[in-house]
Amino acid sequence: MKSLWNDTEAAAFVGDLAQRVYSSRLLGADSTLVMHGGGNTSVKSRVKDIFGEGEDVIFVKGSGWDLATIEPPGFSPCRMSHLLKLAQLDSLSDTQMALELRKSLTDPGAPSPSVEAILHAILPARFVDHSHADALLAVTNTPGGEHRVREIYGERVVVIPYVMPGFKLARLCAELFPRHAGPRTVGMLLMSHGLFTFGDSAKESYERMIELASLAEEYLARHGAWSGASSDDASLASKPFKTDGPRPGPLEIAALRRAVSAAAGAPLIMQVNADAEVLAFARRPDLEHIAQQGPATPDHVIRTKRIPLIGRDVDAYVAAYRRYFAEYGDPTLTMLDPAPRVILDRQLGLATLGRSAKDAGIAEDIYRHTMRIIAAANAVGGWRALPARDIFEVEYWDLEQAKLRKAGTPPVFAGEVALVTGAASGIGKACVASLLARGAAVIALDIAETVGSVPKRPDFLGIRCDVTQEEEIERALEQGARAFGGLDILILNAGVFPSSMPLAELSSAAWRGVMNINLDANLVLLRQCHPLLKLAPRGGRVVVIGSKNVAAPGPGAAAYSASKAALQQLARVAALEWGTDRIRVNTLHPNAVFDTGIWTGEVLASRAASYGMSVEAYKTNNVLQVEVTSRDVAELAAELCGPLFAKTTGAQIPVDGGTVRVI
Ligand code: ZN
Repeated sequence: MKSLWNDTEAAAFVGDLAQRVYSSRLLGADSTLVMHGGGNTSVKSRVKDIFGEGEDVIFVKGSGWDLATIEPPGFSPCRMSHLLKLAQLDSLSDTQMALELRKSLTDPGAPSPSVEAILHAILPARFVDHSHADALLAVTNTPGGEHRVREIYGERVVVIPYVMPGFKLARLCAELFPRHAGPRTVGMLLMSHGLFTFGDSAKESYERMIELASLAEEYLARHGAWSGASSDDASLASKPFKTDGPRPGPLEIAALRRAVSAAAGAPLIMQVNADAEVLAFARRPDLEHIAQQGPATPDHVIRTKRIPLIGRDVDAYVAAYRRYFAEYGDPTLTMLDPAPRVILDRQLGLATLGRSAKDAGIAEDIYRHTMRIIAAANAVGGWRALPARDIFEVEYWDLEQAKLRKAGTPPVFAGEVALVTGAASGIGKACVASLLARGAAVIALDIAETVGSVPKRPDFLGIRCDVTQEEEIERALEQGARAFGGLDILILNAGVFPSSMPLAELSSAAWRGVMNINLDANLVLLRQCHPLLKLAPRGGRVVVIGSKNVAAPGPGAAAYSASKAALQQLARVAALEWGTDRIRVNTLHPNAVFDTGIWTGEVLASRAASYGMSVEAYKTNNVLQVEVTSRDVAELAAELCGPLFAKTTGAQIPVDGGTVRVI
């Protein structure tokens, strides 16, 4: 492990808080030290209040901030005197402690200070860093772990036995640290939890963290237990699937997601990974023993649940979770949903779940680190996680339960997956935006390369795909299932609008070209997506982007009008046939949507001129005299998939400002 400290870069961060920001980001940049909001840092400083009087404060990481991207407002300024007094109390409930921490703030608008704030305050040095370093956890989470850490660190750290984070831990540290700290002490080690280091400068505290974490890595390396995934594991994964059957396809993935979503009581996004590292782990003969003990550090439980599901028997997992709650819970607690967030399966590999793609990704990151920690601990002396009771305490902590009660309603499509065709421009692109805004994860297909060039975000998968090629659709559905777990919403938008051509001159090739894209490709998409939509936790939804031309065709548009009319019939039959599969199929008929790629200013001007109209009049040439935009169509398409239309199928809705010929 290397220090990322750079004196030149650091010089740009002037003052205590700025230095704190700089080195916190360095700590956050290394996922083997902290992950996804884990870990925390602080600096003690003296600031002037509005009367010009100085007071001692400690800036502690605020909750909701991530060390990797933290900014000065991410640190909560607490009065030192208040925190030190709290540390003297005999007892304090964690709810009271959270309240007292807020009361200690010199800025009432600051985020709530980390629950480890008191612990930071009692450590005497100015800068304090706290991580959950992988290597350290691999050493402490073994039988005889305490003996090992004493061998590694000697007097350099004060070792604190495991106690749940919160006031009790702060109180214990306040008692033990001064008693055991010596002249050589540079840190404090919390068994089965993590590591604190401190120093007079940001650099000193940070580099001590790097040094102490490196010592744990070196210890593991000396025992042949540290090199990430070992080469033995990789060779295991590359063995043929002989005894394990074929690789599970999209339908098996979607069926598993449906079962877990049912257990969770809400749709979940499921990511599936089957690389060498996860397959090697999922096929370990001792998997049952090592993977059913608990997380590497207690706060992971919020993301991963205490243990993964091994195999695919979701009912058995749910029953076991209910037993766990019955054993450790009490009537004042509300049981969390009993669904797994991590699944290990010999064929599937590693599947992780969350209410959003981001959450599923966080569970994946955490579990990948967990696998490495378990493997290392196992190699050095045997993996041993904290007892279930300790993990339960953190999972059902007052403060976590309060957070859940406060959490607002999730977006309407949270946990759901949508697929949009023709998604790189115009109405399709707008549909992607409307669905993402409602919390869906979106698989965007387009023949244009640009579909993949959208800024990377976890809930978006852009795939270049020619929808007239069956095997390309098949591949896209496979990729989509691995990224998000299935399919809930299908928006059939891809289509072509050829230039005007009188019927008498329309070639068979031109006709077939239009039919191929506007009609045939949609038949294939509907057919291929049907079994996946059938497995949608809340029922599948299809929106077909039709056209005003279905009801009011125009001269010169024979192929286009016929293709859209046939597509309309296809959608009606789908609505009839799939109602019992809980799949709704509805159609939108837009007209004169000009903010798309085809309608350049030039084309628009010449069309308007040919009707003897201004561009403005041409754009609003409808009953309501309004301009219809891609966004208007997309928003309605998204709403059609939502609860307002839950009892509507087979509908055809115009979105055209009103067309005289249709009305
Ligand atoms: Zn911690």
